[in-house]
Amino acid sequence: MNLCNLGVIRSILSEHGTDTKKSFGQNFLINPQIPFDIAEESYNYHVATKGACASCVLEIGPGIGALTNELCQRYEKVVCVEIDKTLIPILDKTLAEYSNVSVINEDFLKLDLKNFIKENFGSSPVSVCANLPYYITTPIIMKLLEESRIGKQCALTSLTVMVQKEVAERLCASEKDSEYGAITASVSYYGKVKKLFNVAPGNFHPAPSVTSSVIRIELYKENPHTVIDEKTLFSVITGAFAQRRKTLLNSLSSYFSNISKEKISEIITSLGFDINIRGERLSIDDFCRLADEFYKFNKENKK
Ligand code: SAM
Repeated sequence: MNLCNLGVIRSILSEHGTDTKKSFGQNFLINPQIPFDIAEESYNYHVATKGACASCVLEIGPGIGALTNELCQRYEKVVCVEIDKTLIPILDKTLAEYSNVSVINEDFLKLDLKNFIKENFGSSPVSVCANLPYYITTPIIMKLLEESRIGKQCALTSLTVMVQKEVAERLCASEKDSEYGAITASVSYYGKVKKLFNVAPGNFHPAPSVTSSVIRIELYKENPHTVIDEKTLFSVITGAFAQRRKTLLNSLSSYFSNISKEKISEIITSLGFDINIRGERLSIDDFCRLADEFYKFNKENKK
């Protein structure tokens, strides 16, 4: 069955009394070359870094199974999480020939991810591969990054995901680029982002209004960035970009009402930054140094 054929998609959905749902960000792939290429990119990177033995992949949002089919042909174990219960009986049929796949009907954002990874994959290396629902791309990526560490090590190898082109550009930006923002700095704490290829709207049913891009986030097994407290790091990053048009000093001092502007100014200059610098000029290591100073100040002032 060609799961990327528009006629096939329409008839499977109508046989099961359902249709594509905008509320779940359902844009199904209708060009078989795209799921093939995404799965190849994901699996080749997995094998290059972890080898082919006990290869595992997590897919978020299998839809009717176009990408899942490609993943089942490559990985030893495939686990999918799909929120839409009307798609579960469809996936039972479209994935019937594979014994290496399980489909879980859950909202991915509500999963206890650490336990989910342990229960489904044990200690095997896991890659993530998905055509993400665009309405929750950032929360899904941040959940995967924040909740997939077991001890100091990351349980995930890489995320090979389709996102909106604009989001891909933000994620791939470097300091000085106008697209560099809180999400860029936060993701760069966990790994390196590479843009792989663009996908035009005509490759989906229904066609989205924007171009998409496939990216890969290659995760650090052990984080090379050192910071005393991650919570402080992420609030400093959020504070630095809370008021984009302002300087770092003004944005941070509007955000942290418990620290005087003078103190923030002192911290910024003590680290060697110009007092008029903007948040988008700071690398992730700069943010780590800044966060350490905020952490020390908060600790001192709690005493
Ligand atoms: N993988 C299919 C493809 O490429 O044709 C479908 C991709 S479609 C862009 C996004 C999928 O994510 C849909 O199947 C949708 O129902 C599912 N989804 C949306 N929100 C979800 C959530 N919170 N948890 C799990 N799946 C979700």
